Amino acid sequence: MMLEGYRKQIYSCGRCGYCLGGYLDHVCPSRFIAGFESSTARGRMLIARALLEQKLNYSAELVSILFTCFLCGACDIKCSQAAKIKITEITKAMRHDAINTGIMLDKLIPETKALSESHNIYGKPSIQRKVLLSRLPIRGEKADLLYFPGCVITFRYPQIAFNTLKILNSAGIEVALLGEEEWCCGNPFLFTGMLKETERFAAHNVKKIREKGVKTVLTSCAGCYRVLSQEYPKILGEELPFKVVHVTQFLDKLIGEGYIKLKKLSYDRVTYHDPCEIGRYAEIYEEPRSVIQSIPYLKLVEMEKNRENAWCCGGGGSVNIVHTRRALSVGQLRIKHAEETGAKILVTACPSCVQMLELASKRKRSKIRVVDIASLVLEALKL
Ligand code: SF4
Ligand code: SF4
Repeated sequence: MMLEGYRKQIYSCGRCGYCLGGYLDHVCPSRFIAGFESSTARGRMLIARALLEQKLNYSAELVSILFTCFLCGACDIKCSQAAKIKITEITKAMRHDAINTGIMLDKLIPETKALSESHNIYGKPSIQRKVLLSRLPIRGEKADLLYFPGCVITFRYPQIAFNTLKILNSAGIEVALLGEEEWCCGNPFLFTGMLKETERFAAHNVKKIREKGVKTVLTSCAGCYRVLSQEYPKILGEELPFKVVHVTQFLDKLIGEGYIKLKKLSYDRVTYHDPCEIGRYAEIYEEPRSVIQSIPYLKLVEMEKNRENAWCCGGGGSVNIVHTRRALSVGQLRIKHAEETGAKILVTACPSCVQMLELASKRKRSKIRVVDIASLVLEALKL
């Protein structure tokens, strides 16, 4: 049982409630959508304790509660000032142990089956990756840099890849792609606790990237960034033969070194949403802000919840599959935060956040327009 490895941490929870926040100051989106103690980090430590003591067994009902957690990491940050418990790791361990006892929620079966068989979350044939990506403005066959778009960009937001590569082209940078050899990074398997499958996907992607001989892998997806840079070395037990860079870091460097020059836009203020997986998980807070602030006369107005206190978009942890409407309400609250800044443009740096926030904005009938950061930069390049 994977949970056993966290026994000491689980018993160190003093039930201080620091991870909960106040009743009006929402810290935990899981608590926000479910409202019960069992859906808070503190409650989850009690569940974990009961499982260890065999006072509770895995059931579909229990697993459904575990899937109210967005794995956003806000509780980890709060608990780092209390008992330093790795709450999200413990939640993932419970999801993993549930799978190992044979309990998989019906709603998760189609996506995980499609992923195992087709190597992308949409169950599309791999050749479609090649077809979609062949439209990209690629320069160079023997590049040192490989662009890893990931499933959401390839199949839902190819424009983000197109815009990113147009920027790189304008700076004279060559990129390689894996094309149909690219598999999903494996994040949905990590969310559901299917670690063996994550390992299979990690081994495949690392092998294919290694064969390309590139030094750096660039991604526009916060999930792909976290999984490739943080999870792959742990899963495979080796240092990667390449560096992983998120597009916000890359663009910040390009702008800082004068490779691209940005011009004034037709609007003068935007706000920025920190994706959990590059924010709290990787502390990439300043680079996206620096990119936005490089655009002349553009003001970045912060939402009250920003950087490590940022509210999740609602797209994390596979909650949107298990509790779809509730996940959307988390996104709608994030749109409300954006509206409160007075900005009409909400910039973010992850296709999954773009997808969730666009949907939330539409459902809320909000005037907020969600824009990916590379698309904002390309607009300011005025090519
Ligand atoms: S902050 Fe940590 S120690 Fe305090 S209740 Fe939450 S999980 Fe337990
Ligand atoms: S990871 Fe996020 S959603 Fe899950 S318990 Fe922690 S704060 Fe709540």
